[in-house]
Amino acid sequence: MTAAARPIHVLQLYPRDMNIYGDFGNALVLSRRLQWRGYEPILHSYDPEDEFPEEVDLVIGGGGQDSGQDKIQQDLLRIGDTLHALTEQNTPMLMICGLYQLFGHSFRTREGREIQGIGVLDLHTEGTDTRLIGNVVAESSQFGEILGYENHSGQTYLGEGVQPLARVTKGEGNNARDSHEGARYKNVLGSYLHGSLLPKNPAIADFLIATAVQNRYGEEVHPAIEPAGSAQPIDELTRQARMHATR
Ligand code: GLN
Repeated sequence: MTAAARPIHVLQLYPRDMNIYGDFGNALVLSRRLQWRGYEPILHSYDPEDEFPEEVDLVIGGGGQDSGQDKIQQDLLRIGDTLHALTEQNTPMLMICGLYQLFGHSFRTREGREIQGIGVLDLHTEGTDTRLIGNVVAESSQFGEILGYENHSGQTYLGEGVQPLARVTKGEGNNARDSHEGARYKNVLGSYLHGSLLPKNPAIADFLIATAVQNRYGEEVHPAIEPAGSAQPIDELTRQARMHATR
């Protein structure tokens, strides 16, 4: 069997309700970078009451309004055990903003409503009257300089069981107090950054891909193959995406 025939199953959680500020770009980047490395991306969309796919190598989820979070909460709790099990099997995941919050223990909205999360990440979120909005620059020991865009009223506080993903040098990130952006537990990454995140930060995309490929096939990912007929090399596209992200 050739490498091109080998699938990697990417699951996008709740694209109908949790998918704002271009978060779907993350799915596109993963698909394209998987193809460039000779794998076949199979993108599954999961919305409330759908059947959870049998094969899952990588999970992504986006942001949403508080009302969108309300809509998916019950269903997320229903599949919580499955997501916990995938986490413990070292499945790579990337959760942005609204779903990042709900991968924590709880989100108390500005109006005082409690939205219970699944607690994969040891953190909690409190709604505030101030929205944190704007471009973010953060420094990560693993991924280097991370660029993105934040827009949230919830402010997130990390517990002992997670590591911050990065330290903010511009903007706010998790909250207006401690300079932390995002969180990591095992191979689950949470971040407030839209933008979308992965086109501007391919090192994170490649970590998710390398982990998924290692888990499924027990092998290192080949270096990217220049896409045939591509007008611009991959690095040039990334450079442009990062240039257009205001620092
Ligand atoms: N509704 C959440 C908040 O405002 C998440 C927003 C988002 O995903 N951008 O905190």
